[in-house]
Amino acid sequence: MSPAATAPDLTIADHATDTAPAPRPVLRERGQREVFCGLTSIVWLHRKIQDAFFLVVGSRTCAHLLQSAAGVMIFAEPRFATAIIEERDLAGMADAHDELERVVTQLLSHRPDVKLLFLVGSCPSEVIKLDLPRMAQKLSGTFSPKVRILAYSGSGIETTFTQGEDACLAALVPELPAEPEDAAPSLLVVGALAEIVEDQFRRLFDGLGIGPVRFLPARQATELPPVGPSTHVLLAQPFLGDTLRALENRGARRLSAPFPLGAEGTDAWFAAAAREWGVPERRFEAVIRPARDRARAALDRHRSELRGKRVFFFPDSQLEVPLARFLARELDTELIEVGTPYLHGKILDAELEMMPSGPLLSEGQDVERQLDRCRQAAPDLVVCGLGLANPLEAEGIATKWSIELVFSPIQGFEQASDLAGLFSRPFVRRTRLEV
Ligand code: SF4
Repeated sequence: MSPAATAPDLTIADHATDTAPAPRPVLRERGQREVFCGLTSIVWLHRKIQDAFFLVVGSRTCAHLLQSAAGVMIFAEPRFATAIIEERDLAGMADAHDELERVVTQLLSHRPDVKLLFLVGSCPSEVIKLDLPRMAQKLSGTFSPKVRILAYSGSGIETTFTQGEDACLAALVPELPAEPEDAAPSLLVVGALAEIVEDQFRRLFDGLGIGPVRFLPARQATELPPVGPSTHVLLAQPFLGDTLRALENRGARRLSAPFPLGAEGTDAWFAAAAREWGVPERRFEAVIRPARDRARAALDRHRSELRGKRVFFFPDSQLEVPLARFLARELDTELIEVGTPYLHGKILDAELEMMPSGPLLSEGQDVERQLDRCRQAAPDLVVCGLGLANPLEAEGIATKWSIELVFSPIQGFEQASDLAGLFSRPFVRRTRLEV
């Protein structure tokens, strides 16, 4: 294993499909799939948790993936890196555990600012059966309380890219302190959000008199929110099945809500918390209405561009269902197929109720069959991963990279127009090119 090959600095998933039944037929496919692995989520997670470091234990391929996903920003102190497993480690000629210990010691002695170190597993570390949770425990004995060391897997064998966030947050849950026995009800917003979005949400919750409100992940690794039976969880991202289960095992309770995408989704998301806190209707309207009206007005210009456009979602980010709901209900698009890697019936309960009838819902992927369906349907816009976008563009089909929707601040009222813009832009661009 070579010393940590640093990658540049820049800033949250479920292994098991929820067993709760979806309220409509779902096409389930298992075949070849085209998605990034869970390591990709480090790109936004390391921006979010500002005193954390992500040490991928992987191959040169893993290092290249991270560098290309994050871009090369060598002017910043990187907060992620890859400890590269060399061939001799794979051949069992070196004790990879000792090597990893050496790399971690070297890293932490150079980086006193790091308060939380994640050892992130990869395909190679799984293949050679490196026991990263045990390593994390052992190293914690050496470096705690100054540095907390945790492990999770971002391996592409079983995870899609947003599952990296789920695995990371699920690894954090056992570290959360227990709330006091007489704790007042609190709200825990779960899922990485851009700071600008988090600040807007905090202001609106304050206005509604809802609190205390805490966020997971927090900006600082040392700010761990307490959890227990008085904790109400409002998910900000739909791909956090393992994290939710871990929180529920600690006594927390989820508030059922759609996701805060678009004016309608954001309104209903706040309304779920407001109901739990008994916020009077008049106060809710006084606080929420101005922002909701602004968002609705801002969507009008995108609606004229998107109305009637036929949209096909390939499975990638797990944001597909809420995004499709937003596109259909607020921008008058027509949905052909809404594919998602995993369909969490429970987490998506409110979303599935709002989804218009008509589109095919599919879970998992058999990419060739799905491409056939897509070509036959001849959609106006395909939302898909990077690997499919180029060939489809070459066939004359407009595409939107789904990963862009994860990297961009899209949640909340103020971002509704930007979110719509991400979908209308390919059409505007084509119109200009044609002109
Ligand atoms: Fe590739 Fe696996 Fe490394 Fe991801 S974890 S970059 S899929 S080798």
